[in-house]
Amino acid sequence: MAHMSFQLGFLCNADCPFCFLPTYQADTPDEDEKYNRRAFLKEFHRRKDELEGVSLTGGEPLLYLPELEVAVSEMARAKPGLHFWVYTNGILADDDHLGILRDLGIGEIRFNLAAANYKEKILENLERAREMFEYVVVEVPSYPKQKDRLMACLGELDSIGIDQLNLQELWVTDTNVHRLEGEGYQSGLLFLRKFFLYGSRRMTYEVMQHCVDEGYSFTVNDCSASRFGVA
Ligand code: SF4
Repeated sequence: MAHMSFQLGFLCNADCPFCFLPTYQADTPDEDEKYNRRAFLKEFHRRKDELEGVSLTGGEPLLYLPELEVAVSEMARAKPGLHFWVYTNGILADDDHLGILRDLGIGEIRFNLAAANYKEKILENLERAREMFEYVVVEVPSYPKQKDRLMACLGELDSIGIDQLNLQELWVTDTNVHRLEGEGYQSGLLFLRKFFLYGSRRMTYEVMQHCVDEGYSFTVNDCSASRFGVA
């Protein structure tokens, strides 16, 4: 789908060791975030004829519900029928917050269960989302340190009825390199050169194989370096 990513703000209520974004800037002036949102809206209006969808990211988008509401309303008015999806760590995904997203016409929600280390409470929030959204996706980094936690909840994800599991090869950046366990390897050429965590892709294929063996009904997507076009 031709889409753009709309970053609502920088703040997050989680503290993931693998986070590759410089999101922990509590002192970032609010004006910067407003400026960014205006820039994304301008980009949207410039590209709207070609776009079929918009993903809403952060930071944590549920910390920005009033801003999300303003942006989505403007974009939906300018181009009816757009597909919107929201990324969340799931911590604030209660009835009220999810209800606001659903009433705005958001069609898809993607939970990063790894942010709270696959805690049961977030799985309950995911189950709630299943009843409210057309598409429910779990999108997590393949972090070998968390492999057992992910494996342990795959059966529950199937029972909940998620549509897809996206497994990202873990991207190593200046922001997360000091907090991750493991070694990085370099992939790509020139400006596409990036670093990824050894073992991350292997974990993706082990999880995929397990899902096939168990006959789970959701699809599993390999978001690895080669899929980003950098390997
Ligand atoms: S939930 Fe997402 S934005 Fe927040 S710290 Fe974790 S990876 Fe970063």
